[in-house]
Amino acid sequence: MNRARIGYGVGALAVLLAASGCGSSAPATKSAAPAKPAAASSGSSSSAAASAPAQDTAGEAAWAKWGLKPMAKAPAPPADKPIKLTKTGAVPVFSEVPTQDKVVFITIDDGAEKDPKFVQMLTELKVPITMFLTKDIVKNDYAYFKPLQALGNTVQNHTVSHPVMSKITAAQQKTQICDDQAALTEQYGTAPYLFRPPFGDGANTPTLNASVQECGPRAIVLWRESMQIHDMQYQSADKKLKNGDIILAHFRGPSELKGETMTAMFGEMLARIQEQGFAVARLDDYIAKPAG
Ligand SMILES: [Zn+2]
Repeated sequence: MNRARIGYGVGALAVLLAASGCGSSAPATKSAAPAKPAAASSGSSSSAAASAPAQDTAGEAAWAKWGLKPMAKAPAPPADKPIKLTKTGAVPVFSEVPTQDKVVFITIDDGAEKDPKFVQMLTELKVPITMFLTKDIVKNDYAYFKPLQALGNTVQNHTVSHPVMSKITAAQQKTQICDDQAALTEQYGTAPYLFRPPFGDGANTPTLNASVQECGPRAIVLWRESMQIHDMQYQSADKKLKNGDIILAHFRGPSELKGETMTAMFGEMLARIQEQGFAVARLDDYIAKPAG
């Protein structure tokens, strides 16, 4: 992808965003939450929908409780994953998933705000997210993210201290990525397989690619839209979501959101997605991890 596409995240906006560039993905236990069995029990074995149920989502009352309209259900995960990761070699950089499904993917970065209400919200709404966590920002309360992980949301790598990666040496890059990798693996029991550089910086440089390879993640994940306090910021000129777009958000609270809460910000993001007719799918479901 073109470095310029993410350029807006690097200048003055970087100050505003303070900590952009996180994400996460779903855990290996993703299929533990089957959709409502109604379709599957109808006996229409010829229907793809019957054999591959849509993703589980909340009922209307749950959406209403959070002031939201029900979102479209994500389709069944694709059998043939559009993104295929390799075990060795250069890691791919992507900011969207090639798919015909009318879905987008939510990634949430850093980990500063640890609002229990947000755990409740995701538990009730079952919206999948991917978390890109920064060690120095989450180490005061690793446990906060465990119930979110238990919902099927994976924890991914976002460095130890959130530096601008192109401004540090290769050795420092490796320390940033490898140490976050070790801490997150120890805390959450699964090694991150995705990496997001803070601010998206350096994503397409050979140096960072090599550093990522040495530490374990097998892809660098950027984004197409970023969620601000009330509005979605788009990279595309028409300011519309597209199939497969990856959206960046942050664990932030009232001090970073001008008084807005994490759940309010997240609700507004869901409303922007809902009004454009998209479902939120699990990034993990669209990526084939390297064998072995
Ligand atoms: Zn970040």
